[in-house]
Amino acid sequence: MKASIVLYTSDLRLHDHPPLRAAAREAEKVVPLFVRDPGIEKAGFLAPNRAAFLADCLGDLDAGLRERGGRLVVREGDPVRVVRELVGSTGAERVHVAAGLSAYARSRADRLRAALEEAGAQLVEHEAVITALPPGEVVPGGKDHFAVFTPYHRQWATQRLRDPLGAPRQVSVPSHVRSDEVPRRADVPGVSPALAEGGEREGRARLAAWCRGGVGRYEDLHDDLAADGTSRLSPYLHFGALSAAECVRRARTTGGAGADAFVRQLCWRDFHHQVLAARPAVAHEDYRPRGDRWRTGRAAEREAAAWREGRTGYPVVDAAMRQLAHEGWMHNRGRLLAASFLTKTLYLDWRLGAAHFLDLLVDGDLANNQMNWQWVAGTGTDTRPGRVLNPLTQARKYDPRGDYVRRWVPELRGVEGRAVHEPWKLGPGAYEGYPAPLVDLAEGRDRFRAARERG
Ligand SMILES: Cc1cc2nc3c(=O)[nH]c(=O)nc-3n(C[C@H](O)[C@H](O)[C@H](O)COP(=O)(O)OP(=O)(O)OC[C@H]3O[C@@H](n4cnc5c(N)ncnc54)[C@H](O)[C@@H]3O)c2cc1C
Repeated sequence: MKASIVLYTSDLRLHDHPPLRAAAREAEKVVPLFVRDPGIEKAGFLAPNRAAFLADCLGDLDAGLRERGGRLVVREGDPVRVVRELVGSTGAERVHVAAGLSAYARSRADRLRAALEEAGAQLVEHEAVITALPPGEVVPGGKDHFAVFTPYHRQWATQRLRDPLGAPRQVSVPSHVRSDEVPRRADVPGVSPALAEGGEREGRARLAAWCRGGVGRYEDLHDDLAADGTSRLSPYLHFGALSAAECVRRARTTGGAGADAFVRQLCWRDFHHQVLAARPAVAHEDYRPRGDRWRTGRAAEREAAAWREGRTGYPVVDAAMRQLAHEGWMHNRGRLLAASFLTKTLYLDWRLGAAHFLDLLVDGDLANNQMNWQWVAGTGTDTRPGRVLNPLTQARKYDPRGDYVRRWVPELRGVEGRAVHEPWKLGPGAYEGYPAPLVDLAEGRDRFRAARERG
């Protein structure tokens, strides 16, 4: 075959990439294509941190392709129009793409299929590679998705995952195909100061280091806020710079309790994806409505703003929110308590919190963000929707020495030990510039419980 096109979407890698492998095998020339789609940019999916990380991923993909004799072709516009044009100019007979999971991706594939048929070419849609196991692969009898994690995990864990593919050795791109400039992180304004570096190479180096070391201590350290003992692989997985299936396979060969605990988290990722794939509306609607009438009005707005700024007066919540602003990433335990504080203690709509997280999270995606927010808010798949996380108890348990708070809340750096979690108990002058608690925890909890009982 003369030429094939590989359309990259959220799978920005060379390794374990079935569309690239298939194209490189069947055709003399391959066009590895990434289309900057104004539709996606307009919908707000490319907040600055993710735009910067994406630029890193594209730059790295281009570099990896160049090492193999090729290059990345970047274009801007409607992907269907761009692909059609390239089919015309290269004579490509096939366009390879990995199946997307979102409604947008599905409609893009339908439009592409129709347009290619007209042009006498064929769309080859490979299985979804965003998750380790594609949504719909395991389902309970008579239903289209699992609504509870534990039975999903039980079945998921018994499935054989496909063998990860190596990267192709050689990719030859038709010389006459022009490309726009590959985007650069330096051109993206408003990026968090300590945003991680993106790209497949960086992701693979982190995965290798993680499997050699970190994962062994994951079970013990994953909830310890100050230890930073999680993999931090989420953004690489989000952009597909790493293959989830490969992460599972490599962690499993590492073995040990830490690997099991880590793989279980990757299963959570697949779980949320299969819920959203089956119920796309729950990106914005309650999965299990509880009759909430979330607080609105001036006080509610003021409290939401204090939460966003990391000025709630509860140090562990504020530390987590400030980590988010600084790194574009937040520790999972921090995400849980910041989200519980907003939705339950302050009784504010989970959508407010989810939107703020999506503005900043480098790994922010609809499935994991919205479904985790709903899980915490008790409108999602949590089987104990009424639980309220107490930030003080949580802080004592998961930041027992107070180091996480001191790292992120400079106003409290002079306070020693766990006293840092209750600054209001220290005399005046022991700390300066740090706000008083926004709300009494017991009052917040009772308000939430009363609302849910009424609902
Ligand atoms: C309110 C809230 C919002 C969240 N928003 C997102 C989001 O937008 N994108 C996102 O990837 N994760 C989200 N998470 C899940 C989780 O917090 C992050 O995946 C994790 O903190 C990423 O850090 P890590 O890579 O070090 O994770 P590790 O602990 O090393 O876990 C390994 C991988 O498993 C997956 N994972 C871990 N925990 C979860 C989980 N609870 N749900 C789904 N996948 C998980 C991630 O891909 C992660 O990279 C959210 C959690 C909460 C409570």
